Formats: sequence, structure tokens, C-alpha cells
Amino acid sequence: MQLREDIRNIAIIAHVDHGKTTLVDQLLKYSGTFRENEQVDERAMDTGDIEKERGITILAKNTAINYKDTTINILDTPGHADFGGEVERIMKMVDGVALVVDAYEGTMPQTRFVLMKALEQKLTPIVVLNKIDRPNARPSEVIDEVLDLFIELGADDEQLEFPVVYASALNGTSSEEPDQQEETMDPVFKTILDHIPAPVDTTDEPLQLQVTLLDYNDYVGRIGVGRIVRGSIRVGQQVTVMKKDGTQKSFRISKLFGFTGLKRIEIQEAKSGDIVAVSGLEDLNVGETICPQDHPDALPILRIDEPTLQMT
Ligand code: GDP
Repeated sequence: MQLREDIRNIAIIAHVDHGKTTLVDQLLKYSGTFRENEQVDERAMDTGDIEKERGITILAKNTAINYKDTTINILDTPGHADFGGEVERIMKMVDGVALVVDAYEGTMPQTRFVLMKALEQKLTPIVVLNKIDRPNARPSEVIDEVLDLFIELGADDEQLEFPVVYASALNGTSSEEPDQQEETMDPVFKTILDHIPAPVDTTDEPLQLQVTLLDYNDYVGRIGVGRIVRGSIRVGQQVTVMKKDGTQKSFRISKLFGFTGLKRIEIQEAKSGDIVAVSGLEDLNVGETICPQDHPDALPILRIDEPTLQMT
């Protein structure tokens, strides 16, 4: 079995305010994914208007971070149970999750909710015990709470082996030991690379790309975002989309986008394991599968239980 060792796809999950956004900002800065003259002037995952209004993270975003020879796609996941369908769909695009827990506050209702979803999907977890700098942080107690929660939620034996990395996203420090913080994000990256499975390389098989999120842009119109589950895709390719009502519709991929940092960039081709955005069909919906014309093969329908939110 070939693996795409150059990629990791993970979702970042947490109770609100436990530090997801700060952590992703810090990983971006540390990795140098930004050029020197480019600033993190937009917080990595906290830019939507609705989020600002409600003060919670509800819009899904992908942040692609280059570390050594690997691209780590970090998908933000809403913590709120109202977005259960979206959480499930995002988790279909990844092989593992980084569960961020406040080292003082411990596990909270949204920690439980998002972890339950991740364990159900059989994803590989790592735990980031954040805010280790807080004077009243209680790392060993909180790790026990986390372990109890894993057991209670029915984690399997492999999931129970989760590695822990201790961090202060605020100060840019991390370590595999609670009391030996170093000014580096390397331990977080290393834990991701060592523990989260690389996607299986099925580039030579017929294309399957399931649209998981939708976006819209004035220049290119509707954009479907998803992971290439199988095969490869390129700009200009004639493809078929398997509609939910069982019909098929042909279209040409007019543009293909990959991700770098917080930005979407135009690319010419992509292959199994990549998370991409495609345009070319106005009538594209969440859950539909894009396939080659001579290999119409739909993936199982996804759960959608809320208005589709935009990915910006
Ligand atoms: P999110 O809701 O999970 O995205 O949380 P944020 O990243 O927005 O962080 C919520 C608050 O916690 C902000 O005020 C951050 O500055 C603060 N915070 C994040 N990480 C740390 C940390 O490592 N230590 C401390 N003391 N505060 C942190």
C-alpha cells in the first residue's frame, strides 16, 4: 500500500476558547508558511462575520501548513452541536484530529461533543493540552479527565493510546513533557507527523471527489470543496457529477484550487489525499460525488442538517 507521506489531513477540535485559533496562528508563524513580508493580519480561523457576532467559531476553514517536506491541512471544526452535520462532513476529509483542551478548565461540553464525533468516525486522535502557562494549570488531572472521557465515549484501544503534547499557544512553546516547555512548535508538528496516518495513495484509480463544503466567489461562481478520495483531477477535465436524485451531469473543471497558509491558490492538478476546491458547475451540492465520465461511482450520501455555511 502506497502512502502520501507528503500530506497529513487533520481536524482541530475543541471547546470554544480553549485556543484553536491561537494554536493554528502559532503553527503558521513557526512553519514560515508565511513569507517574511506577509503578516498574519487575519486570524487564521476566526474571520467570518457570524463568528465575530456570536464570538464563536462556526465557519469551516482549511489552513495548509508546510512543515519540512509535508503539507498539513488543518480543518477547523465548529464545536457547537447545532452544526453536527458539518462536523461530521469535515471529519470525512481527515485521517485524524487534534483535540485541544485548556490545561486549567479541563474537558467541557463541546470537548465531549466533538470528541464523540471523532471517535465515531474512527479517526486517530492526538491531544494538545494548551494554556500550560496558566498559573493554575493542572495538567495531570486534566489528562486523567481526558482519558476518562475517551473511555466513556467508547474509544477503541488504538484511540486510547493518544499521544499528548503540552503547549502554550499564546507564548509559542510546547513539549512532550508538561514541565519542560521550549520556545518551539516542533513537538506539536512532530506529534502530528508521527501519529496521524498519511493518506493512502490511490492516484492510479478512477477519480472520486465528494463535495463536502460549498463556497461562492464572484469571479468563478460556485466552488465545491472536498477531499480527493481516489484518483486524480486536473483543470479542463470533463467529469460527471452524481446528483443526489440519482441523475448525472457532465461538466468541465474550469478551475482547481489548492491551499497554502490561509489562501486558496490555483493549481493545475491534484491527487488522492489532497483537499481541493473546484469550480465549473453552478448546480453543485454538498454530498455529490465528482467522477470520471466512464466511471460513475457515487460515494454514500453525507448527513446535512443545517443550512450550508460558506467557507471563505
Ligand atoms: P478558540 O475559540 O479555541 O479559537 O480560542 P482562541 O484561540 O481564540 O483563544 C481564546 C482565548 O484564550 C484568547 O484570549 C487567547 O489569547 C487565549 N489563549 C489561547 N492560547 C492560550 C495559552 O496557551 N495560554 C493562555 N494563557 N491563553 C491562551
